[in-house]
Amino acid sequence: VRERRVDVAVIGAGTAGLSARREVERAGKSAVMIEDGPYGTTCARVGCMPSKLLIAAADLAHEVGNAEQFGVRPGKLEIDGRAVLERVRRERDRFVGFVLDSVDDLADDEKIRGRARFVAPTVLVVDGHTRVMADAVVIATGSRPHIPPSIAKAGDRVFTTDHIFEMEDLPGSAAIVGTGIIGLEIGQALKRLGVRTAFFSKSDRLAQATDPVVKTVVREVLSRELALHLDVEVAAEKTDDGCRVRWRAADGAEHEEIFDIVVAAAGRVPNLDDIGLENCNLELGERGIPVFDHRTMQCGRSPIFIAGDVTAERPLLHEASDEGHIAGSNAARFPEVRARMRRVPLSVTFTDPQIAIAGDAHRDLDHDAIEVGEVRYEDQGRARVMGKNAGIVRLYGERETGLLVGAEMFGPRVENTAHLLAWAIQGSLSVGRALDMPFYHPVVEEGIRTALRDLCGKLKVHGMPRPHDLECGPGT
Ligand SMILES: Cc1cc2nc3c(=O)[nH]c(=O)nc-3n(C[C@H](O)[C@H](O)[C@H](O)COP(=O)(O)OP(=O)(O)OC[C@H]3O[C@@H](n4cnc5c(N)ncnc54)[C@H](O)[C@@H]3O)c2cc1C
Repeated sequence: VRERRVDVAVIGAGTAGLSARREVERAGKSAVMIEDGPYGTTCARVGCMPSKLLIAAADLAHEVGNAEQFGVRPGKLEIDGRAVLERVRRERDRFVGFVLDSVDDLADDEKIRGRARFVAPTVLVVDGHTRVMADAVVIATGSRPHIPPSIAKAGDRVFTTDHIFEMEDLPGSAAIVGTGIIGLEIGQALKRLGVRTAFFSKSDRLAQATDPVVKTVVREVLSRELALHLDVEVAAEKTDDGCRVRWRAADGAEHEEIFDIVVAAAGRVPNLDDIGLENCNLELGERGIPVFDHRTMQCGRSPIFIAGDVTAERPLLHEASDEGHIAGSNAARFPEVRARMRRVPLSVTFTDPQIAIAGDAHRDLDHDAIEVGEVRYEDQGRARVMGKNAGIVRLYGERETGLLVGAEMFGPRVENTAHLLAWAIQGSLSVGRALDMPFYHPVVEEGIRTALRDLCGKLKVHGMPRPHDLECGPGT
């Protein structure tokens, strides 16, 4: 067994691990990064990028299919599933290539291949071939798809995002189990690419939405396009030529349908089992995840830091990157740990319409202390122009201060408007001051202004008087 002594050992070469390693280097300390899977990161290989590539094709197909309402007749729509998936992989491989280059640039002694396991709080054994002794360790092991036992009987017909993008051709039909962000994104994309789909969830969850009013609109609008079976028990088993999916509806009626594949999108499991946490003397919280401070990423007062999806706290790319930076810089300077500011939460689901949360989610609000402003997109000017007039935005403002604190959003281009709101919230903009900002015409941001005005009226605070305010048609 080879012995290695380093300042910081980083387990996992994903986004969080790579950021952590960079911080250790920046601090002038030695680091080793341990990885047992393929290099390239979840985001680039099997996550953000291939899913958005598939969605790009699906949205285009949908636009073409919808063109007629504008008097545009593009002819018969044909989808070449092989070509779609080939482009997904080609572009995906390009993104992965950039990550591989950065890993290649590391010296051989800065990376170790194999599975790391703690044998003591700062001692790791990698696949039995290397023993790493460090002053501090960063756990950045990410997460993996969960396959519910009730669908496991479908065997090799069960696909997760780990291998769905490797399919040579699109399936004829797919049962999507799970209506979280990943299930809705992938499922709607498959549907728009001509795959017969149905969605199953044991709860009424729809992506990350928590506001009951928003959830109702999401359900209502998405149900026009997608077969959503919420609050159902679902089971799947393999048949000769596909899989049989059975579910019991809310009214107790039993149903079954045959699909080519089942997509397991029922959450992700943190990669913590089998890494020897029992040898670390850490306090474990929910789901066996070490208790940590999200401003320092330190687990208790130990020399162990944690970052990225493995925390199951904010499983998003920019958060994994931030957490990696915080964990890495603190691991390098341990025991002098510094607290760092965290950004205002921001999450986007790339369905159509998109779903987003900026700042506090409805679930996290003190409902006695806030007012809610609202806009619906049916008559919003620009949304109507584009034929994308569906959705709702709910803004939350603090009664006492007039500050904007959060928003749940479902509508056209909310990936962009959610950014505006997140920046406004992080900049401590009051609702009145937000209304003083320029709004161009005609844009979907005018919808946000409508919601801000609604909120402003309820908070009884006022922005600058605007005698020249342009009002033109519906939706402003
Ligand atoms: C389908 C999908 C779509 C997504 N879309 C978006 C999106 O649009 N926007 C967004 O912000 N986020 C998105 N995400 C989330 C985003 O991809 C993750 O937040 C991010 O990739 C997490 O990075 P990480 O470093 O924590 O984990 P990872 O990149 O998974 O890295 C963890 C690494 O640790 C390794 N490892 C695990 N255990 C060990 C061990 N014991 N020893 C050695 N190595 C180990 C693993 O092999 C892995 O390489 C998406 C995720 C998925 C799955």
